[in-house]
Amino acid sequence: MGIDHKENPPTRADEVLQLTRHLAQQWVRPQAQRWQRERVMGLEVVQEAARLNLLGVQVPVEQGGLGLPFSVKSGMAAILAEADFGFALSLINTQGVASTLANWLPAAVSQRWLGDLLSGQRIGCTCLTEPGAGSDFGAIQMQATPHGSGWRLQGEKAWIINAQVAEVMVVYAQTQPGIGAKGIAAFVVDASRPGFLRTDRGRTETVASLGTGGFVLDGYEARADEMLHPPGMAFKRAMGSINMARTYVAAMATAMVVDSLRIARAYGEQRHTFGRALQEHQGWRWVLADAMVDVEAAQLLIEQACAAADAQAPMEALAARAKIFSTRMASKHIASLLHALGAAGLSAQYPLSRHLAGAQVATLVDGSTEMLLERVWASQVGSTTPPKHAIQQEILN
Ligand SMILES: Cc1cc2nc3c(=O)[nH]c(=O)nc-3n(C[C@H](O)[C@H](O)[C@H](O)COP(=O)(O)OP(=O)(O)OC[C@H]3O[C@@H](n4cnc5c(N)ncnc54)[C@H](O)[C@@H]3O)c2cc1C
Repeated sequence: MGIDHKENPPTRADEVLQLTRHLAQQWVRPQAQRWQRERVMGLEVVQEAARLNLLGVQVPVEQGGLGLPFSVKSGMAAILAEADFGFALSLINTQGVASTLANWLPAAVSQRWLGDLLSGQRIGCTCLTEPGAGSDFGAIQMQATPHGSGWRLQGEKAWIINAQVAEVMVVYAQTQPGIGAKGIAAFVVDASRPGFLRTDRGRTETVASLGTGGFVLDGYEARADEMLHPPGMAFKRAMGSINMARTYVAAMATAMVVDSLRIARAYGEQRHTFGRALQEHQGWRWVLADAMVDVEAAQLLIEQACAAADAQAPMEALAARAKIFSTRMASKHIASLLHALGAAGLSAQYPLSRHLAGAQVATLVDGSTEMLLERVWASQVGSTTPPKHAIQQEILN
C-alpha cells in the first residue's frame, strides 16, 4: 500500500473498509495475542491507522476528516473486532472524541486538539462513569463550578477506555448538585494541564488493549469555550451518541462470533475423532449451525440500527435490541465454539478466550443489558420510569 493516504484520503465507504481490513490483517491480528500477554495497548497500530487516514471517519471533510456516515464506522469496528475487540474499541473511542469535538465545538476551539487526534499523536476518551455511578448516569458526582469566565472541575472518573494514555477527554460533570440529569454538562479536558491526575481506578487486564483506567480532576480549570454540551443538553446528547455506540458494540460482538466460527470450521475439517473429521459428527456441527443462525439474526438487527443512524431517524429501541441480542449470543456462542475445539480452544494459538472476554465487556459498556431491556420495554409499553428519573425522561423527550 504505497499510496499517501494523507494526500489522497479514501473517499468511499468501500475504500475505507478495504484499508481497515488491511490494518486488521497485517497489523492487529499478528500482534493481538502479544498485547494481551504483555498487558499493553496497541498504540503503534494507532499510528498506522492515522497513516491510512482512518481516524476521522465521521469528522467533516472541511475539518480534515472523511465525512462518512455512521454505518462505515460500525463496519470498521466489526472488521477490527474480528482481530482484537480491545484494540477496535480503543480506536473507535479516539475516533468518537474527534467527531464529537468537530461536530460540537467552533472550529477555532476544536483545532486545539483535532489535528493531534486525527494524526494519532494524542488519544481520546469519553468519560461518564465514576467509582460511585455507572448505570445511574444522572447520579455522577464530578462537580463543575463557575470560576472566572470558565469552570473548575473536581471529582473522579473510573472504568474509562484509553484512560491509561488518553490526553483529550470528553468529561461529564454536574453543575447543580441535587438536580440530576438536568444539571449535567460536558467539557473537553486536556490531560497536559494542571489539576489532572491519572489513576488505576477501573484498570482491567481482562482485555488489556482497551487501556481502561481512571483519573482525578482536582481544581482543573476548563475555559468557557471548552464546554461541549451545556446543562440541559449534555444528558440528551450523550444518550443520542450512546445509541450509535450500542450499535457498533453489537457489530463488534457479532464479528467475534464470525471469527470464532471461521476458526471452528477450519478445525472441524482437520481434527479427527473416532475415525472421522469432527464436522462429520452431527452433534458437533450443530453447535456451529446454531451460531450461524444467530449471527444472521444479529446482522439484520445491526443493519436496521445502522440504517436508522444514517437516516438520522429514531434508533433508541433498534440499538438496544441489536446490542442485547448480539452481546448475549456472542457470550453464549463464543463459549460453545471454544468448547468445540476441545483443549485447543484455550490455547494462545487461537483468539477464542480473548473474544470471550471481549463479549463479556460488550454486555456492560455503553449501557448494560438490563438498562437496554428497560429501553425496549419503554418502546413497547411506554415509560415505566420511576419518579426519580422523571427529569431524565423530560430531557430525553
Ligand atoms: C471494560 C470496560 C470499559 C468501560 N469503558 C467505559 C468508558 O470508556 N467510559 C465510561 O464512561 N464508562 C465505561 N465503562 C463503564 C460502563 O459503562 C459501566 O460498567 C456500566 O455502565 C455499568 O455500570 P457499573 O459497572 O457501575 O454497574 P452498576 O451500575 O453498579 O450495576 C451493577 C449491575 O447491576 C445491574 N443494574 C443496575 N441497575 C439496575 C436496575 N435498575 N435494574 C436491574 N439491574 C440493574 C447492571 O446492569 C449491572 O449488571 C466501562 C466498563 C468496562 C467494564
